[in-house]
Amino acid sequence: MAGLSEFAIIERFFTDRSATLSAGELGIGDDCALLSIPAGFRLAVSIDTAVENRHFPAGGDPADVAYRCAAAAASDLAAMGARPLAATLALCLPAADESWLSPFSQGFKQAMQDFGLQLIGGDTTKGPLTITVQVHGLVPNGQSLLRSGAQLGDLVFVSGSLGDAAAALQVIAGEVELSDEHRDFVYRQFYRPQPRLALGQALLPLATSAIDISDGLVADLGHIASQSGVGAQLFVEQLPLSPALTCGFGKTIGHQLALTGGDDYELCFTVPAALEAQIQQLARECHLDLTCVGKIVSGHGVTCLDGQGEPVHFPRTGYQHF
Ligand code: ADP
Ligand code: MG
Repeated sequence: MAGLSEFAIIERFFTDRSATLSAGELGIGDDCALLSIPAGFRLAVSIDTAVENRHFPAGGDPADVAYRCAAAAASDLAAMGARPLAATLALCLPAADESWLSPFSQGFKQAMQDFGLQLIGGDTTKGPLTITVQVHGLVPNGQSLLRSGAQLGDLVFVSGSLGDAAAALQVIAGEVELSDEHRDFVYRQFYRPQPRLALGQALLPLATSAIDISDGLVADLGHIASQSGVGAQLFVEQLPLSPALTCGFGKTIGHQLALTGGDDYELCFTVPAALEAQIQQLARECHLDLTCVGKIVSGHGVTCLDGQGEPVHFPRTGYQHF
């Protein structure tokens, strides 16, 4: 790499001297990091890769790109109800460009702080811009949120509002114009998603299943349905749409973006109907909207129903790479 060597990049931008690891643990600098796993916990591990122009448009603020990649990875910990522990970062860079690396590393550091993660290692290589973040978390033995636990009669909830990140991509592509306020909001939803880590952990004793919404609600709830051997109904009129989405796109397209747009990183989870009041209590505690958008039924697949209970069809069900 011209200018900075691989090791200078690691030293300058990614070695955190203030990292606090326990005795016997090891962070950046050796061949492996070493983590201890407390008795009574399991290690939850997940990895996410983001490729420029596929997962995020070229030309974005590097701090935002970093934050988004870290958030997307941490969101998988949220979906399992895991407590965040540590992350590794594999960076494939077209050039050793300090003016890009500096804000990128700041954005990444901010995300690590916000999500309670420590950067403990990684890999730095040259090639098309690709950012891979692996996250590690802890779940109490025998107590994680799986996709496979949904039961007949459970209610389906989602956190936050849906479709905003997909809306942001249309704005960035110049296909749609929004007011300054709404544009700032959807940009923030796309570049600074907040993985629902506290919610995920609080759901451990309540939810029967959970998933984070990365590919679109219909597709992701579809995974819960198929892995639980049940069907799911979504009540389209109950979908939580932001003012940016309803004002900028109207209700019909808003519903479509909420159902099929990816990158929201909200949680979708199922709970027994008897626990509905506890979920509303949790919403107040987490300062987060938790909206009942459907229910688990017999059969298979996800059916979208309008206000009259009639099935509605949307052309795309979610993002797929192949
Ligand atoms: P190795 O050749 O043994 O895989 P490297 O030379 O690639 O080790 O990395 C040296 C150290 O720097 C390792 O501890 C590795 O985890 C860490 N590291 C490399 N790249 C990054 C990065 N982008 N962010 C954080 N740590 C990194
Ligand atoms: Mg080595």
